[in-house]
Amino acid sequence: MSHVYKRVALIGLGLIAGSMAHAMRRSGLAGEITGYARSAETRDTAREIGLVDRVCDSAADAVDGADLVVLAVPVGAMGRVAEEIAPALAPGATVTDVGSVKRAVIEAVGPWIPDGVHFIPAHPLAGTEHSGPRSGFAELFDNRWCLIVPVAGTDRAAVDRLRRLWEGMGANVDEMDPDHHDLVLAVTSHTPHLIAYTMVGVADDLRRVTDSEVIKYSAAGFRDFTRIAASDPTMWRDVFLNNKDATLEILGRFTEELFALQRAIRRGDGDELFDYFTHTRAIRRGIIEAGQDTDAPDFGRVTKQ
Ligand code: NAP
Repeated sequence: MSHVYKRVALIGLGLIAGSMAHAMRRSGLAGEITGYARSAETRDTAREIGLVDRVCDSAADAVDGADLVVLAVPVGAMGRVAEEIAPALAPGATVTDVGSVKRAVIEAVGPWIPDGVHFIPAHPLAGTEHSGPRSGFAELFDNRWCLIVPVAGTDRAAVDRLRRLWEGMGANVDEMDPDHHDLVLAVTSHTPHLIAYTMVGVADDLRRVTDSEVIKYSAAGFRDFTRIAASDPTMWRDVFLNNKDATLEILGRFTEELFALQRAIRRGDGDELFDYFTHTRAIRRGIIEAGQDTDAPDFGRVTKQ
């Protein structure tokens, strides 16, 4: 495949940026990939493993001459990074981001983008609970969605070029309005993460069940919660601080439903529980039919007993 961009600068060298570097190399999508991360430790690791072609010691050096700049730092750091790189951006370049929240990132980054530079927010719906420069892999985006969230008046050719990059990295691409994005993600990702954090916290508090029992007997349900609850604390703190309204709305709905189920259990209302679980089972089938997950038992895990 021919290069989509001549020089791509990755700001932040964690799971998402690292996976992008691997995926771009897999298909030869970038002529050169430069990178920058805040700590010398991460930059040294990135150099040691050859994560990108050139690791720079400042964000401004990394973006110098780049025709694509990817902000792959926690949502709460996006504005500061944009301010830092703004003077070094080349005319005609595209700045994109991979943040899990879109309205707040647009408000934080948008004002720093100079005239003549395109700003095209995006969000790949792919991740793991791992973070850091060693956690990325080329297949992360394969057959997953990437949502591009163009702001009004964005140059169409620049959006199409970014779309080609994401498709080249294996993703399916859709476009979405920022507020709708934040609501959709509050339902599909942000609130479920909060519930997982809570459930693991609750288990941790239950002194009648010892820690070793929780670990030893955790069947799939709780084990999946612990995996999600192991996600990066900085990233998730920033997600909730920056997608406050949508998450609070969905949490309110969640709490109401939880109380309704709690009442059904107390009253012994088996019909209500059965109907509810039948409905949720149909939703799961829809996800599998849409190709977003596997229907293999236990998500295709090989169980080690
Ligand atoms: P990560 O593995 O923790 O990496 C974050 C990177 O950002 C690190 O290299 C870190 O550098 C750097 N960084 C942090 N603050 C910085 C600052 N002020 N200036 C410069 N660099 C800074 O995180 P990630 O999972 O790749 O997430 C990156 C972004 O992708 C986040 O906005 C997140 O919301 C979004 N996202 C994540 C997932 C997921 O599942 N993980 C999925 C989709 C989107 P140091 O190592 O030096 O601290």
